[in-house]
Amino acid sequence: MGRPRVRDDLALVEGYHSPQLEVEVRLNTNEAPLPPPEAFTESFLAVARAVPWNRYPERSALPLRARIAEVESEGAPWSFTAANVLAANGSNEVLQSIALTYAGAGRTVLCFEPTYALHGHISRVCGSSVVERDRRDDFTLDVDAAVAAVTELRPSVVFLCSPNNPTGRVEDPATVEAVLGATEAVDGLLVVDEAYGQFADHSALSLVAEDRNVVVTRTFSKTWSAAALRLGYLVGPTWAVQQVEQVVLPYHLDALTQLAGTVALGFVGDMRERVAALVAERERLVAGLEGLGVEQWPSGANFVLFRPPGGDGDAVWQGLVDRSVLVRNCSSWPRLGGCLRVTVGTPEENDRFLAALAAVLGGG
Ligand SMILES: *Cc1c(COP(=O)(O)O)cnc(C)c1O
Repeated sequence: MGRPRVRDDLALVEGYHSPQLEVEVRLNTNEAPLPPPEAFTESFLAVARAVPWNRYPERSALPLRARIAEVESEGAPWSFTAANVLAANGSNEVLQSIALTYAGAGRTVLCFEPTYALHGHISRVCGSSVVERDRRDDFTLDVDAAVAAVTELRPSVVFLCSPNNPTGRVEDPATVEAVLGATEAVDGLLVVDEAYGQFADHSALSLVAEDRNVVVTRTFSKTWSAAALRLGYLVGPTWAVQQVEQVVLPYHLDALTQLAGTVALGFVGDMRERVAALVAERERLVAGLEGLGVEQWPSGANFVLFRPPGGDGDAVWQGLVDRSVLVRNCSSWPRLGGCLRVTVGTPEENDRFLAALAAVLGGG
């Protein structure tokens, strides 16, 4: 008797790991530094008491989707409805559902590296063949090369990420428009991952329409201070929402998650204040890094990618850990040699980080 054999095409797929260590200052996973407002917890506990536990939850999560549509319609050229929104357990489940619907075996997915590792990973697990094309050395996208790649490869799904994780770069609106045009010309779907969208000054939500092949994904994990909630969503044309709905498991979104999400959306003002405070702190971090002579890239997110001088990212990362500060070590990732990524924390955490980095770089 032998052990059951894992799918042959999975043998080449590497797992996804984000190492955690016990430290005082955790700036490695782009979470919000503060919990949601106290009033959120109180309101959530009140509605949680009333959950009819013997019943299945609202199957299509309509009240939650309607609220998301309302919030995302502010500032958009037209009003979205619940039919434009699909919610799932984190935007990772949204991305997986998109891949299961439009990619999968025998189909091609196109990513522009470096970018969020899970776009490729999830697509491979779904059986798709993933093609990675490079960004320029400054991590911007070469539009002509991107359009040519789409035209040549005819991918079923193209991923963009704006602001891009791990570089922080916001995609130029004209670039997104051009890649969308090329994707539509080959009957593909463009997915714009906006996990950090609220930190940036423009969004691809303005492109979402019934006659456009684009969906935008967002999450409660970063801007909404609710990574523990596992709630993400897409905003897209109604036909795309209907098609993706066919692959999600029945009742995939439990009653508590739906309620917590709906309650959270009552605190839009608090969320925007926090985002503004984090953006201000980000600019302080950027200035601090500049003062230390560290190479960095412009960020429209709640983190900054930087490359300490000397090129030994591992040593600097370890030096920070020795001072109880944890950042993301990207130094061995393809195209990111020597780079580290720091999440914007509270002012105190950011001060601790800058002081620790100064000490490490100064040999102190
Ligand atoms: C964090 C992150 C996600 C994952 O979000 P969840 O909703 O927590 O699953 C998706 N995309 C990008 C680019 C991210 O950085």
